[in-house]
Amino acid sequence: MPTIALIVAAGTGERARTAESAPKQYRKLAGKPVLRWAVEAFSRHPKVDAVKVVIRDGDQADYEDCIAGLPLLPPALGGATRQHSVHNGLESLTPEPPERVLIHDAARPFVSHHVIAEVADALGRADAAAPLIAVSDTLRRSTDGVSELVARDGLFRAQTPQGFRFAKILDAHRRFAAEPATDDLALAERAGLSFAAVKGDESNMKLTEPEDFALAEKLASSAFGDVRTGTGFDAHRFAAGDHVWLCGVKVPHDRGLEGHSDADVGLHALTDAILGAISAEDIGAHFPPSDERWRGAPSRLFLEHAARLVRDSGGVIAHVDVTLICERPKIAPHRQAMREKLAEILSLDLSRISVKATTTDGLGFAGRREGMAAQAVATIRLHA
Ligand code: MG
Repeated sequence: MPTIALIVAAGTGERARTAESAPKQYRKLAGKPVLRWAVEAFSRHPKVDAVKVVIRDGDQADYEDCIAGLPLLPPALGGATRQHSVHNGLESLTPEPPERVLIHDAARPFVSHHVIAEVADALGRADAAAPLIAVSDTLRRSTDGVSELVARDGLFRAQTPQGFRFAKILDAHRRFAAEPATDDLALAERAGLSFAAVKGDESNMKLTEPEDFALAEKLASSAFGDVRTGTGFDAHRFAAGDHVWLCGVKVPHDRGLEGHSDADVGLHALTDAILGAISAEDIGAHFPPSDERWRGAPSRLFLEHAARLVRDSGGVIAHVDVTLICERPKIAPHRQAMREKLAEILSLDLSRISVKATTTDGLGFAGRREGMAAQAVATIRLHA
């Protein structure tokens, strides 16, 4: 592997963490975990051959959930400090050492295609490369309440990814393992590696304090400017039975619904709506009724598949709205359970999920209680 991206996600993020929130690398921005933003930037990049993440021991379940569907190298486990974590990550690459490694903080979700390319290219002329940004604010140093001006000439902020010739940064980490450094460039400097600076990017911000998330949420939202809408409709006939499945919830009823799968009209309409929003054909194309595998299948499989396709395209589901159409059973007592089930299947916040019900005033097949129908609208956001 010529170039591997090593993404450091092993911190506890105490400063950015509030009592109820997940570690910052697993918190969501515009519906997508911070770490996944960072990982996707590298895994889709033509100058990066593979991506490996360094995670905290104990975060494995959060990690697997977060990167589902992405082709990554197995994760490495981090250490007590960022420096230890990077070192562990580098050591884990030694059985098949790459030529170059790009080390990136998971807490920088908005790293641009351009910055990654610049850092990778700069390694053609130096052992180490990093994005730098000139300091533009006036700086003051404060000691015991007395502050004094600090000249900002020649001062830069170092961002990540920081790129290195792999063998050289590994050697630096081994040599200076006992000497704390805040980033890898500092170690490269100690080891006397040649360095090439590239221009950093203000939007490549590091999420550190809780208030950083408000700004990050705005950036994340604007990155998802391509808004798509899809609709879905489905109907099934009533048959003998004592329950129906609706939006993933088993609802007692004096009839059942006839169908190849579990005949969940709500999930079928919603699956079609999501497929429609990403122009990915329809539920019948993905799960042919002629295929015995889907006989009696729980329809959440179909919805999970559609949600996975959205995620694989780098998008997020912004909102879904399902309308169930029937005289009976009564939907209202089950509405909340249905919303919660959809939230669980789609990994979405409850506020992004609506379930409604209507009758047809006795008209048509639903009115005659021959069957029931559902329609759905899904709103998807893709990268603009
Ligand atoms: Mg159906």
